Amino acid sequence: MAKVIAIANQKGGVGKTTSSVNLSACLAYIGKRVLLVDIDPQGNATSGTGIEKGDLDYCVYNLLVDDHDVQTLIHPTVVENLFVIPATIQLSGAEIELVPTISREVRLKKGLAPIANQFDYIIVDCPPSLGLLTINALTAADAVLIPVQCEYYALEGLSQLLNTVRLVQKHLNSSLEIEGVLLTMLDARTNLGLQVIEEVKKYFQDKVFKTIVPRTVRLGEAPSHGMPIILYDPKSRGADVYLELAKEVVTGA
Ligand code: ADP
Ligand code: MG
Repeated sequence: MAKVIAIANQKGGVGKTTSSVNLSACLAYIGKRVLLVDIDPQGNATSGTGIEKGDLDYCVYNLLVDDHDVQTLIHPTVVENLFVIPATIQLSGAEIELVPTISREVRLKKGLAPIANQFDYIIVDCPPSLGLLTINALTAADAVLIPVQCEYYALEGLSQLLNTVRLVQKHLNSSLEIEGVLLTMLDARTNLGLQVIEEVKKYFQDKVFKTIVPRTVRLGEAPSHGMPIILYDPKSRGADVYLELAKEVVTGA
């Protein structure tokens, strides 16, 4: 059975998609079978793995809203062992369309159930909100990975996110765990980053990944080439770091 990891933080631009794409690709690179599920209507994880959104007739919207056959929504990617259920702008309507439906919070969990035994990991890239799409991800997940950008106000909004996690644990998914907090976009030239690391470690203690993602030009460039960093520039610092993270996730360290 796949371990399902939701990558969530309602703040935009903290590195959710970058981490979803590159953690998924690095897990695949070390031999795991990985499914990346894009549930952000912006579809950046979809294009970041080389899938042309304009060519798609169906996407994760159809799984959530229409009970579409999940098997037919799975696309191979530019990385061996890495598969994607894509998102297109069509998904932007789902949050509202799901409101009146029965068991609207468990649509993703139910949709993924038939294929869970085909993968070692299912990574879900969440949108920047705590709405129904993110709730679906947290309900389907075994664990949540929280990217936190190394900048001022890094901890702002996290109590809201943790509160949502607690509500999901209480009402929808009692086995949901916190996989860890991932510090992202560290600028090693400033002291600020180091202060933020201290602050986040004080707050989350052993729940912070040892791997810290630096801000690098190559990590920022890779999505525009439709490639995870491990393919775009396998010798780069970014590739090393996300490989390190993949190993940390696998060993549970
Ligand atoms: P989110 O999904 O949380 O909105 P993204 O992963 O899309 O955040 O990152 C926001 C922007 O920052 C994107 O343009 C992305 O390419 C860039 N970015 C993310 N992580 C890094 C990094 N470590 N180094 C450089 N650029 C990064
Ligand atoms: Mg994103």
